[in-house]
Amino acid sequence: MGESVKPENLSELDYAPTCNFKACAQTATSWITFHGCNEALLCDQHRQVGIAEMNMFLGMGVRLKCVVCGKAFETIGSFCTFRVL
Ligand SMILES: [Zn+2]
Ligand SMILES: [Zn+2]
Repeated sequence: MGESVKPENLSELDYAPTCNFKACAQTATSWITFHGCNEALLCDQHRQVGIAEMNMFLGMGVRLKCVVCGKAFETIGSFCTFRVL
């Protein structure tokens, strides 16, 4: 009587991949790989933000530079690949 029982079943903590963008806690919907250098999980919103940013840079004539290998890419398709989860 009065003894507390700790739950051993933690199934409430179902695994759901969340967006890797800073403090974003939304469920990730796509997986992005950067030509083998890096990878990240992104939610719908941040995938769109990322694509819009890359298009903006390319539109200004700025190539997409990888912070890992230092190579510059002229198209989004050669820089990174999106896969829907
Ligand atoms: Zn996000
Ligand atoms: Zn790279």
